[in-house]
Amino acid sequence: MSSSETAFTEICARIAHAASQQKRAAALLAVSKTKPAAAVRELAALGQRRFGENYVQEALAKQRELVDLALEWHLIGPLQSNKCREAAEHFDWLQTLDRLKLIAPLARFRPAARGPLNVLIQVNVDDETSKSGCRPEAVGELARAVAAEPRLQLRGLMAIPAPHADFGLRRAAFARLRGLFETLQREHPGLDTLSMGMSEDFELAIAEGATLVRIGSALFGARS
Ligand SMILES: *Cc1c(COP(=O)(O)O)cnc(C)c1O
Repeated sequence: MSSSETAFTEICARIAHAASQQKRAAALLAVSKTKPAAAVRELAALGQRRFGENYVQEALAKQRELVDLALEWHLIGPLQSNKCREAAEHFDWLQTLDRLKLIAPLARFRPAARGPLNVLIQVNVDDETSKSGCRPEAVGELARAVAAEPRLQLRGLMAIPAPHADFGLRRAAFARLRGLFETLQREHPGLDTLSMGMSEDFELAIAEGATLVRIGSALFGARS
């Protein structure tokens, strides 16, 4: 087995184990930022379909190299207003919707030939130093605005909690996000995606209800 195959097999097994303890499923988003298209192709050959990218231009270059593969692309980096068109045209999911003014341009630029753009609202659950993510109090208004757009499909919430050394604090942040998600599901019963947990803490996130974990370095090796 190649090293990427070993890592992929191990991560999939750990996700499946953590999810089975919660009696539900959790999916893997392979975060390929800074890694070459060849690394994506290798994982795709092993059966991985969902890939996450942080930078629009970098993602578009990889997508052009990988057009022969039917992959699902998630934008997981902060979205600037001047990139709404490219995000709407070239991604299947946007995980970082965090302000109202992005919604109309995303809906306007989503091509009619593609299904609705899947949207997660990014919430800033505990990191005062981070500029991305909306405040927890803003989730309800953003969710209603996304749900009102036929070209957008609200799927759930995403967060990047502060990387506390104390895993109890990380777990508390995951639990807060889960609470927000369950509250939001009462108003929007179709929501099915809670995106939280990365290489260091995805099992903890699954224990707190994550349905989608975003894993980069544990799959592809450290980023330089
Ligand atoms: C880079 C990144 C990840 C993956 O982080 P790892 O620690 O390498 O697994 C997950 N989510 C987001 C939003 C990222 O930017």
